[in-house]
Amino acid sequence: MSQRYYIVGNWKMNGMRAALSEARAIDRAAQRLPKVEVALAPPATLIAAMREAMTNIGVGAQNCHADDKGAHTGDLSASMLREAGADFVIVGHSERRADHHETNGDVKAKAEAAQAIEMGVILCVGETEDQRDSGEAEEIVARQLASSLPNGCQRLSVAYEPIWAIGTGRVPQVADVAAMHKRLRGVLVDKYGEAEGGAVRILYGGSVNGDNAAELLAVPEVGGALVGGASLTADGFVPIIVAA
Ligand code: PGA
Repeated sequence: MSQRYYIVGNWKMNGMRAALSEARAIDRAAQRLPKVEVALAPPATLIAAMREAMTNIGVGAQNCHADDKGAHTGDLSASMLREAGADFVIVGHSERRADHHETNGDVKAKAEAAQAIEMGVILCVGETEDQRDSGEAEEIVARQLASSLPNGCQRLSVAYEPIWAIGTGRVPQVADVAAMHKRLRGVLVDKYGEAEGGAVRILYGGSVNGDNAAELLAVPEVGGALVGGASLTADGFVPIIVAA
Protein backbone atom coordinates (compact mmCIF):
# COMPACT_ATOMS: atom_id res chain seq x y z
CA MET A 1 0.00 0.00 0.00
CA SER A 2 1.46 3.34 -1.00
CA GLN A 3 -0.62 5.41 1.42
CA ARG A 4 0.90 6.80 4.60
CA TYR A 5 0.09 5.03 7.81
CA TYR A 6 -2.73 6.78 9.68
CA ILE A 7 -2.16 6.87 13.43
CA VAL A 8 -5.12 8.24 15.37
CA GLY A 9 -5.45 8.84 19.10
CA ASN A 10 -8.91 8.56 20.66
CA TRP A 11 -8.86 10.36 23.99
CA LYS A 12 -12.37 9.17 24.89
CA MET A 13 -13.69 11.03 27.99
CA ASN A 14 -10.20 12.11 29.06
CA GLY A 15 -8.47 15.44 28.83
CA MET A 16 -8.88 18.86 30.41
CA ARG A 17 -7.20 21.97 28.96
CA ALA A 18 -3.94 21.07 30.70
CA ALA A 19 -3.68 18.03 28.45
CA LEU A 20 -3.10 20.29 25.45
CA SER A 21 0.57 20.31 26.42
CA GLU A 22 0.65 16.58 25.56
CA ALA A 23 -1.06 17.32 22.24
CA ARG A 24 1.54 20.01 21.51
CA ALA A 25 4.37 17.55 22.14
CA ILE A 26 2.66 15.02 19.84
CA ASP A 27 2.26 17.74 17.20
CA ARG A 28 5.98 18.57 17.35
CA ALA A 29 6.89 14.90 16.98
CA ALA A 30 4.56 14.59 13.98
CA GLN A 31 6.41 17.44 12.31
CA ARG A 32 9.60 15.39 12.48
CA LEU A 33 7.83 12.32 11.08
CA PRO A 34 6.06 13.54 7.92
CA LYS A 35 5.74 10.03 6.47
CA VAL A 36 2.99 9.29 8.99
CA GLU A 37 -0.45 10.92 9.08
CA VAL A 38 -1.26 11.65 12.72
CA ALA A 39 -4.52 12.79 14.33
CA LEU A 40 -6.12 13.14 17.75
CA ALA A 41 -9.80 12.94 18.68
CA PRO A 42 -10.13 14.79 22.01
CA PRO A 43 -13.41 15.30 23.87
CA ALA A 44 -15.57 17.83 22.02
CA THR A 45 -14.79 20.47 24.66
CA LEU A 46 -11.16 20.55 23.51
CA ILE A 47 -11.62 20.43 19.74
CA ALA A 48 -11.44 24.18 19.15
CA ALA A 49 -8.46 24.78 21.42
CA MET A 50 -6.61 21.79 20.03
CA ARG A 51 -7.26 22.85 16.44
CA GLU A 52 -5.85 26.27 17.29
CA ALA A 53 -2.71 24.81 18.83
CA MET A 54 -1.92 22.13 16.21
CA THR A 55 -0.07 22.62 12.94
CA ASN A 56 0.92 19.09 11.89
CA ILE A 57 -1.84 16.76 12.99
CA GLY A 58 -5.53 16.27 12.30
CA VAL A 59 -8.15 16.95 14.94
CA GLY A 60 -11.37 14.99 15.08
CA ALA A 61 -14.51 14.24 17.06
CA GLN A 62 -15.51 10.96 18.71
CA ASN A 63 -19.16 10.96 17.66
CA CYS A 64 -21.77 13.08 15.89
CA HIS A 65 -25.53 13.10 15.49
CA ALA A 66 -26.94 12.00 12.16
CA ASP A 67 -29.13 15.12 11.86
CA ASP A 68 -27.72 18.52 11.03
CA LYS A 69 -29.73 20.32 13.71
CA GLY A 70 -32.86 20.00 15.80
CA ALA A 71 -34.38 18.91 19.10
CA HIS A 72 -31.64 16.56 20.35
CA THR A 73 -30.59 17.86 23.76
CA GLY A 74 -26.92 17.32 24.45
CA ASP A 75 -26.01 16.17 20.94
CA LEU A 76 -23.68 17.76 18.41
CA SER A 77 -24.01 17.66 14.64
CA ALA A 78 -21.17 17.03 12.22
CA SER A 79 -21.33 20.63 11.00
CA MET A 80 -21.04 21.96 14.56
CA LEU A 81 -18.01 19.78 15.13
CA ARG A 82 -16.47 20.84 11.86
CA GLU A 83 -17.03 24.49 12.71
CA ALA A 84 -15.28 23.86 16.04
CA GLY A 85 -12.28 22.54 14.14
CA ALA A 86 -12.81 18.80 13.62
CA ASP A 87 -11.84 17.46 10.22
CA PHE A 88 -13.02 13.93 10.86
CA VAL A 89 -15.31 12.00 13.19
CA ILE A 90 -15.10 8.52 14.72
CA VAL A 91 -18.41 6.65 14.38
CA GLY A 92 -19.56 3.32 15.75
CA HIS A 93 -16.97 2.91 18.47
CA SER A 94 -17.90 -0.16 20.53
CA GLU A 95 -18.29 2.01 23.64
CA ARG A 96 -20.97 4.04 21.86
CA ARG A 97 -22.60 0.95 20.39
CA ALA A 98 -22.78 -0.47 23.95
CA ASP A 99 -23.42 2.63 26.08
CA HIS A 100 -25.80 4.38 23.68
CA HIS A 101 -27.30 1.37 21.90
CA GLU A 102 -26.11 2.57 18.51
CA THR A 103 -27.11 0.21 15.72
CA ASN A 104 -25.36 -0.41 12.42
CA GLY A 105 -28.04 1.76 10.82
CA ASP A 106 -27.29 4.62 13.22
CA VAL A 107 -23.58 4.32 12.48
CA LYS A 108 -24.20 4.40 8.74
CA ALA A 109 -26.40 7.51 9.07
CA LYS A 110 -23.74 9.29 11.14
CA ALA A 111 -21.04 8.42 8.61
CA GLU A 112 -23.17 9.75 5.78
CA ALA A 113 -23.92 12.97 7.70
CA ALA A 114 -20.20 13.59 8.12
CA GLN A 115 -19.37 12.73 4.51
CA ALA A 116 -22.11 15.06 3.29
CA ILE A 117 -20.09 17.98 4.65
CA GLU A 118 -16.76 16.52 3.54
CA MET A 119 -15.52 15.40 6.92
CA GLY A 120 -13.42 12.29 7.26
CA VAL A 121 -14.95 9.25 8.93
CA ILE A 122 -13.35 6.47 10.97
CA LEU A 123 -15.94 3.69 11.23
CA CYS A 124 -15.30 1.14 14.01
CA VAL A 125 -16.26 -2.52 14.08
CA GLY A 126 -15.19 -5.46 16.24
CA GLU A 127 -16.27 -8.65 17.96
CA THR A 128 -16.85 -9.54 21.59
CA GLU A 129 -14.76 -12.16 23.33
CA ASP A 130 -17.60 -14.71 23.13
CA GLN A 131 -17.89 -14.11 19.41
CA ARG A 132 -14.13 -14.61 19.01
CA ASP A 133 -14.28 -17.82 21.05
CA SER A 134 -17.19 -19.10 18.95
CA GLY A 135 -14.94 -19.07 15.88
CA GLU A 136 -17.34 -16.79 14.04
CA ALA A 137 -15.65 -13.45 14.57
CA GLU A 138 -14.80 -12.87 10.92
CA GLU A 139 -18.30 -13.64 9.75
CA ILE A 140 -19.86 -11.45 12.44
CA VAL A 141 -17.57 -8.46 11.94
CA ALA A 142 -17.86 -8.67 8.15
CA ARG A 143 -21.65 -8.49 8.50
CA GLN A 144 -21.38 -5.65 11.01
CA LEU A 145 -19.20 -3.70 8.59
CA ALA A 146 -21.39 -4.38 5.56
CA SER A 147 -24.44 -3.06 7.48
CA SER A 148 -22.63 0.01 8.84
CA LEU A 149 -20.92 1.26 5.68
CA PRO A 150 -22.05 4.55 4.17
CA ASN A 151 -23.10 4.63 0.51
CA GLY A 152 -19.88 6.32 -0.59
CA CYS A 153 -16.32 5.83 0.60
CA GLN A 154 -14.92 9.31 0.27
CA ARG A 155 -12.61 10.16 3.21
CA LEU A 156 -13.54 6.87 4.86
CA SER A 157 -11.33 4.72 7.09
CA VAL A 158 -12.40 1.60 8.94
CA ALA A 159 -11.06 0.56 12.35
CA TYR A 160 -11.10 -3.09 13.36
CA GLU A 161 -11.19 -3.11 17.16
CA PRO A 162 -11.82 -6.43 18.94
CA ILE A 163 -13.84 -5.36 21.99
CA TRP A 164 -11.92 -7.74 24.24
CA ALA A 165 -8.66 -6.07 23.24
CA ILE A 166 -9.76 -2.50 24.08
CA GLY A 167 -8.09 -1.21 27.22
CA THR A 168 -7.15 -4.72 28.34
CA GLY A 169 -3.52 -5.01 27.28
CA ARG A 170 -4.46 -8.08 25.23
CA VAL A 171 -4.01 -8.13 21.47
CA PRO A 172 -5.08 -10.78 18.96
CA GLN A 173 -2.62 -13.08 17.25
CA VAL A 174 -1.05 -11.41 14.24
CA ALA A 175 -2.55 -14.15 12.05
CA ASP A 176 -6.04 -13.31 13.33
CA VAL A 177 -5.53 -9.60 12.62
CA ALA A 178 -4.32 -10.48 9.12
CA ALA A 179 -7.29 -12.75 8.45
CA MET A 180 -9.81 -10.20 9.70
CA HIS A 181 -8.33 -7.31 7.75
CA LYS A 182 -8.31 -9.42 4.60
CA ARG A 183 -11.95 -10.28 5.15
CA LEU A 184 -12.87 -6.63 5.74
CA ARG A 185 -11.00 -5.62 2.60
CA GLY A 186 -13.23 -8.04 0.74
CA VAL A 187 -16.32 -6.35 2.17
CA LEU A 188 -15.02 -2.93 1.11
CA VAL A 189 -14.20 -4.11 -2.41
CA ASP A 190 -17.63 -5.74 -2.75
CA LYS A 191 -19.30 -2.49 -1.76
CA TYR A 192 -17.14 0.14 -3.48
CA GLY A 193 -15.27 -1.74 -6.19
CA GLU A 194 -11.65 -2.74 -6.54
CA ALA A 195 -10.06 0.68 -6.85
CA GLU A 196 -12.01 2.67 -4.27
CA GLY A 197 -12.68 -0.19 -1.86
CA GLY A 198 -9.02 -1.15 -2.13
CA ALA A 199 -7.93 2.33 -1.09
CA VAL A 200 -9.94 2.62 2.15
CA ARG A 201 -7.52 2.39 5.05
CA ILE A 202 -8.26 -0.29 7.63
CA LEU A 203 -6.80 0.61 11.03
CA TYR A 204 -6.24 -1.83 13.86
CA GLY A 205 -7.27 -0.75 17.38
CA GLY A 206 -7.13 -2.36 20.82
CA SER A 207 -4.22 -2.08 23.27
CA VAL A 208 -1.78 -0.71 20.70
CA ASN A 209 1.37 0.61 22.37
CA GLY A 210 4.95 1.48 21.56
CA ASP A 211 6.05 -2.12 22.06
CA ASN A 212 3.54 -3.89 19.81
CA ALA A 213 2.88 -1.20 17.18
CA ALA A 214 5.60 -2.19 14.71
CA GLU A 215 4.44 -5.81 14.61
CA LEU A 216 0.76 -4.90 14.20
CA LEU A 217 1.43 -2.26 11.55
CA ALA A 218 3.49 -4.75 9.52
CA VAL A 219 0.44 -7.00 9.09
CA PRO A 220 -0.86 -6.95 5.49
CA GLU A 221 -3.89 -4.67 5.07
CA VAL A 222 -3.21 -2.81 8.34
CA GLY A 223 -3.08 0.83 7.27
CA GLY A 224 -2.72 2.43 10.66
CA ALA A 225 -3.83 2.30 14.28
CA LEU A 226 -6.61 3.69 16.43
CA VAL A 227 -5.12 4.15 19.88
CA GLY A 228 -6.89 4.83 23.16
CA GLY A 229 -4.94 4.77 26.42
CA ALA A 230 -1.48 5.13 24.91
CA SER A 231 -2.52 8.27 23.00
CA LEU A 232 -3.14 10.34 26.13
CA THR A 233 0.51 11.29 26.58
CA ALA A 234 3.31 12.09 24.18
CA ASP A 235 5.42 9.45 25.94
CA GLY A 236 2.81 6.84 25.10
CA PHE A 237 1.84 8.00 21.60
CA VAL A 238 5.05 9.19 19.97
CA PRO A 239 6.70 5.71 20.01
CA ILE A 240 3.71 4.41 18.03
CA ILE A 241 4.17 7.16 15.44
CA VAL A 242 7.88 6.37 15.29
CA ALA A 243 7.09 2.66 14.82
CA ALA A 244 4.93 3.53 11.81
P1 PGA B 1 -7.04 1.21 23.81
O1 PGA B 1 -8.37 1.74 23.11
O2 PGA B 1 -5.89 1.57 22.90
O3 PGA B 1 -6.99 1.91 25.12
O4 PGA B 1 -7.20 -0.28 23.94
C1 PGA B 1 -8.54 1.63 21.73
C2 PGA B 1 -9.85 2.21 21.30
O5 PGA B 1 -10.87 2.02 21.99
O6 PGA B 1 -9.91 2.89 20.26
